Amino acid sequence: MSDPRKPRDSGSGPPDEPGRGEPCSWCGAPVADDDGFRLVRPGSRATFCRLEHVVPWAMSGAVFDEDDGAPPDLGLGVCAHCGADLAEDAVVLIRHRGPHRIGDGFCGVEHLAAWAKRGGRFRAGA
Ligand SMILES: [Zn+2]
Ligand SMILES: [Zn+2]
Repeated sequence: MSDPRKPRDSGSGPPDEPGRGEPCSWCGAPVADDDGFRLVRPGSRATFCRLEHVVPWAMSGAVFDEDDGAPPDLGLGVCAHCGADLAEDAVVLIRHRGPHRIGDGFCGVEHLAAWAKRGGRFRAGA
């Protein structure tokens, strides 16, 4: 009466650690806290590994995660795309780059996507 199933001794490493990074809302890649983009609006948020992923995400319906936190007040008065005053339902895209947080506000997801399509602030010659 021998048990053919031997306990395996391999796999001593920890399993995939959750919390290493939030998944990108478009492709699911983990996004470290000091990298990528966060999109916030009152009551909801989304995460992106790169700016290019904002565009297909916006095109396919712009599904936000729920979030109780208030959006950060970065002193953004106008839409980075069209220059209109931001309303209560404005969205704020925050680029995380090491310790830096660079925010841009938009009237809505459509203007965010249009801005991202043009290459974001790197193409916006202000
Ligand atoms: Zn992504
Ligand atoms: Zn706008």
